[in-house]
Amino acid sequence: MKKTIKDYELNGKKVIIRCDFNVPIENGIIKDETRLKASLKTIRYARKMGAKVILLSHLGRIKTKEDKQKYTLKPVAEKLSKLLRKKVTFINQTRGEKLETAINTMKNKDVILIENTRFEDLEDKKESNNDEMLGKYWASLGDIFINDAFGTIHRNHASNLGIATHLPSGIGFLVENEIKNLTKLIDNPKTPYTIILGGSKVADKIGVIANLINKADYILISGGMAFTFLKAAGFSIGSSLCEKDKINYCKNLLDKYESKIVLPIDIITAKDIKENTKTYERFLGEIEEDEIGLDIGPKTTEVFKQYLDDCKTIFWNGPAGYFELKPFQNGTKTLLNIIANTKAYTVIGGGDTARAAADFNYQDKISHISTGGGASLAFLEGKKLEALDIIDEK
Ligand code: AMP
Repeated sequence: MKKTIKDYELNGKKVIIRCDFNVPIENGIIKDETRLKASLKTIRYARKMGAKVILLSHLGRIKTKEDKQKYTLKPVAEKLSKLLRKKVTFINQTRGEKLETAINTMKNKDVILIENTRFEDLEDKKESNNDEMLGKYWASLGDIFINDAFGTIHRNHASNLGIATHLPSGIGFLVENEIKNLTKLIDNPKTPYTIILGGSKVADKIGVIANLINKADYILISGGMAFTFLKAAGFSIGSSLCEKDKINYCKNLLDKYESKIVLPIDIITAKDIKENTKTYERFLGEIEEDEIGLDIGPKTTEVFKQYLDDCKTIFWNGPAGYFELKPFQNGTKTLLNIIANTKAYTVIGGGDTARAAADFNYQDKISHISTGGGASLAFLEGKKLEALDIIDEK
């Protein structure tokens, strides 16, 4: 078991907390505060215990000097101050004298937010390549390191793996909660257990399928990835998404797990991907050459419902259709409604599916929505997660 923030005496200690403040910001306005709110429990606990709290996070990708203006964490410091009802001092540096002086003059319960860790990427991608000196330097600023950024737990960066290499370490409440919830999908999951997969690419889901197919009773395939499976099953798919190099993989899977893998039986198609476009409801075999399959149809959601209704565990990753546009939202919306009304333990993993749950107001009706897209998949694939492995054991 990993140590958590609760396993440390924090009073008077400089506690570095790696958070995930990678939030959408437009013209200095934060468009979605979910990730900020998700981090509050750990920050509040550290303050309550008398720590000097030093926060680190990445934001976006920094490739040019111009990106720095767009991706400063300043608006996050302002919003966090409001949410915590305590001034969060923003230091517009990732290293240097100003930062060190600010930290050395902190009082217990003070909070400092350091500038975007990825500003260090401008030079040799120091953050993203886990530059050893950078990790060591950041570690030198604190006494204890807490990793509470689940969204980047599958990355080996200086601000997680690097710091943890040099300090006593633990996980925060957010990461602890993610691990607890996602583990229920791998270790003795309650059955019947159904997995819904969607989104655009088969390639991204191969690892999860490999690791979970023997634990789950059914895998329902939707989204753009369904069309490579349908092609492999011998159906015409018109101009829908298709990964030619994955057709054989899909064929083998369908042969081996014939009764486990469930494919759509009807499709919503269109000739263009745009709002107000004309749509067609097609059964398999009816999709025309110039049509693109963009959502699962109503008959498919009826079939999927039968596999979901009496389940005890449901995991869903990847939207059922091109849900960003109204004509192709129904499949995703209907599936959300179905799983929200089951008695199952329900988990949504993946940025887009989580966004759909939020957009269509099902957030509170799902047992667990993971804060990490790639991270939750990597965890469920059973991949080695060095930034988590490095954390001290109890
Ligand atoms: P992913 O990042 O692989 O989870 O894919 C998410 C994206 O897949 C979303 O932006 C969806 O709009 C898109 N998507 C879902 N279904 C389809 C489809 N049938 N055709 C094209 N894109 C799709």
